[in-house]
Amino acid sequence: MNILISEIEKKENQKDILNFSEIIEEFNKEKPVNAEIEIKVLNTTILLTGRIHAEVNLTCDMCLKDFTKVLDFDVKEAYTRYNLNNGCNAEYEVKSNNFTEDLNGSNEIDITDFIYQCVILHIPNKIVCDINCKGDEKLSEYLNTKKTDPRLEIFKNIKIEKDK
Ligand SMILES: [Zn+2]
Repeated sequence: MNILISEIEKKENQKDILNFSEIIEEFNKEKPVNAEIEIKVLNTTILLTGRIHAEVNLTCDMCLKDFTKVLDFDVKEAYTRYNLNNGCNAEYEVKSNNFTEDLNGSNEIDITDFIYQCVILHIPNKIVCDINCKGDEKLSEYLNTKKTDPRLEIFKNIKIEKDK
């Protein structure tokens, strides 16, 4: 889903509220990601603020069980319409701690991609289904089945005779 910045500029106060509800297959094939995002144009900056609700299907790193993690969080991001590296703005980029995305003069913002990136950032590096997840049982089972590749079974029966 793309929004046109020029369309937002025409609105009152140069802002619009977008109700987003789309299936993003990488996260969940059945349940859409829902979001309410306010888009506001301030000169060369486009501010996106709102809330995202996503139910993401993940696999636990500990027990390898599939589970659904509900993510519900606020977002506040800014896009800039023109290249920050142009002339006097170069310094701004270095100093800024904002995750300002550069549109390079484009009139469009891909909202689906924006929301996708926001959700990705909220998925923890270590994915655990539950803080109490012990994981051992299934994981060791998994590792054991991995180890015993049937094609390698034959080697178990080979006896290496030394110094005969
Ligand atoms: Zn687990």
